[in-house]
Amino acid sequence: MSSLRFESVLKSVERKPLVTDETRKRSERFGIHVFNMQRMRENLTREAFTSVKAAVDKGSKIDRGIADQIAAAMKDWAISKGATHYTHWFQPLTGATAEKHDAFLELTNDGQALEKFGGDQLVQQEPDASSFPSGGIRNTFEARGYTAWDPSSPAFIYGSTLCIPTVFVAYTGEALDYKTPLLRALHAVDEAAVAVARYFDKNVKKVNASLGWEQEFFLIDSSLAASRPDIVLTGRTLLGHSPAKGQQLDDHYFGSIPRRALAFMRDLENECMLLGIPIKTRHNEVAPNQFEVAPIYSEANLAVDHNSLIMDVMDKVGQRHNFKVLLHEKPFEGVNGSGKHNNWSLSTDTGVNLLSPGKTPMSNLQFLTFFVNTIKAVYDYEELLRASIASASNDHRLGANEAPPAIISVFIGEQLSKVLKELETVTKGKLSPQEKTELKLNVVGKIPEILLDNTDRNRTSPFAFTGNKFEFRAVGSSANCANPMTVLNSIVAKQLKLFKLEVDKLIETKDMKKDDAIFNVIRELIKQSKNILFEGNGYSEEWKQEAKKRKLSNNQTSPEALKAKVSKKTIELFEELGVMNPVEIHARYEIEVEEYTLRLQIESRVLGDIARNHVIPTAIRYQNVLIENVRGLKEIFGKDFELHAKEQIELVQEISKHVSSINSMITDMINARKKANALTQIQDKAMSYCHEVKPFFNNIRYHCDKLELLIDDEIWPLTKYRELLFTR
Ligand code: ADP
Ligand code: MG
Repeated sequence: MSSLRFESVLKSVERKPLVTDETRKRSERFGIHVFNMQRMRENLTREAFTSVKAAVDKGSKIDRGIADQIAAAMKDWAISKGATHYTHWFQPLTGATAEKHDAFLELTNDGQALEKFGGDQLVQQEPDASSFPSGGIRNTFEARGYTAWDPSSPAFIYGSTLCIPTVFVAYTGEALDYKTPLLRALHAVDEAAVAVARYFDKNVKKVNASLGWEQEFFLIDSSLAASRPDIVLTGRTLLGHSPAKGQQLDDHYFGSIPRRALAFMRDLENECMLLGIPIKTRHNEVAPNQFEVAPIYSEANLAVDHNSLIMDVMDKVGQRHNFKVLLHEKPFEGVNGSGKHNNWSLSTDTGVNLLSPGKTPMSNLQFLTFFVNTIKAVYDYEELLRASIASASNDHRLGANEAPPAIISVFIGEQLSKVLKELETVTKGKLSPQEKTELKLNVVGKIPEILLDNTDRNRTSPFAFTGNKFEFRAVGSSANCANPMTVLNSIVAKQLKLFKLEVDKLIETKDMKKDDAIFNVIRELIKQSKNILFEGNGYSEEWKQEAKKRKLSNNQTSPEALKAKVSKKTIELFEELGVMNPVEIHARYEIEVEEYTLRLQIESRVLGDIARNHVIPTAIRYQNVLIENVRGLKEIFGKDFELHAKEQIELVQEISKHVSSINSMITDMINARKKANALTQIQDKAMSYCHEVKPFFNNIRYHCDKLELLIDDEIWPLTKYRELLFTR
């Protein structure tokens, strides 16, 4: 091992254990840095509290005078917790979170300092937003956008800053962030689901979409990570031979968490408790040094904020423990990648999970209604759902034999498949009272029992029903969940609206009873969306063929997949629901396509640099050692030297072969890049990067990795996989 790499490894082993404040019970620490409902109730006047609550529940406006009161209470509370600054916290279209801190400090006319924070500062701010991507919405001459308070996600203290979750909008009204369309989609699904839920219970006034994410990640020693330019600049390794021991023993999954990682987790959980992020589970994942954390689910907007926040918290806590947290979907070749399962459901303000079977036939009919409508929505918009999780980094994962395929299908388990089949065949037109009783008792009534033994968990499915929720598994570990959640909630909203229309039509024109009508529409939906259901192995070649026959999309790469974001069907969907207008839709598409290109461009440059500046010079150095050795052998043995130098000479030749392959491929790759860069249409450019530039990556890597195996470990300049993955 080279001395530089050796030092890094040693440094990582010597670390002091970390002391965290564990003196209080976790439940007592929960949310103490959050200005949540309970805190508002304690700190606000009744009038102000009622006003915030109405804003959260019904989206009503908060009066400026009241906003002043809330701001004052928020400020006092934050200062009492040690905060000195405040910021409007938002999620620009870069995927990260953004904040600009201002001190509470203000000066009076006579120069006295005091802490001030008024309703104006709470409700609206104007960050200098010209350098956030806007996909052309904001021309630079009118580079004005503002952030506005989102009362449905509570303010929190992070470090010494009071963070106020906000939306980010252009002065012309278009959304410049991820949160705004999500809030609109959640509103749409609320409205549509309430209308349908009221077939079953007139008391329902609100339906919340819930989200429980599961975040996977790698923990890599930070000095080792820093020694790899590819990890530093791209978040993943662009080369590196797989280690002699990988994950084949499966000895990491659910294994005991290594000491250092555990200290990190405890610290992370501690921070999360303060911030009100209800982290519940932590465990090792399949790959070495891979882990997962998951919270108790919550309302989707809050859960999305929590996930955006935790990605930042993880990075900061990682620094304290000398870990680099890798959120990339595929940091290591030949080792499992990371995802972020999005568990999703709908629940009413009357406390019912609409995707959970109940005790009575009627509540099961309600369950079936939401269950089948979700399946139909996924069927109709599978391509858009695929597009919602497309990114350069997730492309490495989708379709590889470890993660969901790029084909979207729905897994519901054997028992529910049977129920749907029966519903499809048994129901026809108006049902006699006897037929209805039979149906309710024999088909619908038995659902809770059969679900109890629904232990079959098909891990290859991208969208699976898991007892009382759907689990969207194709989301990438580095993604902002707002994107897939906006799409999922929108498509379900749209489908529920259609469902309501159909049912009402049958009731009015065919004089059907409500449950007759519901049964009949459900039957039609089952028939129409059968093709999206798949119970088999999603990784198999047969499924690809079968999916093709069923006319399901299989968009392998992001440039292909993203097109669905601007299709006529998508634009109609978002416009109808008021989630996004065409300008907002196109802006996001442009940003994502450009981001794809930029990522590949950076990776291509970094790979070229590492191969030319690190790998080739090292190979030549080692080759010179061999040549020197051969020369010495010749001196000693004269013309018999070949007997002793055969292997060395072959090695010299082999090294030359690899060096020349790498060199010529890098030249070709640079030329391909130049061609791609010259293209003016962003879509063409992304396609060109995808199909002309990217294929060089693996080929160049192949030769570099071969050299890694040939060259003296002592002089190999890059930290190896075994060191990155097995240093604890
Ligand atoms: P796994 O998928 O790892 O087997 P579980 O099925 O136990 O784990 O739960 C996974 C996640 O599902 C958890 O984060 C949990 O909070 C979330 N979850 C459970 N119920 C719901 C729900 N009704 N809505 C959204 N998420 C939920
Ligand atoms: Mg899961």
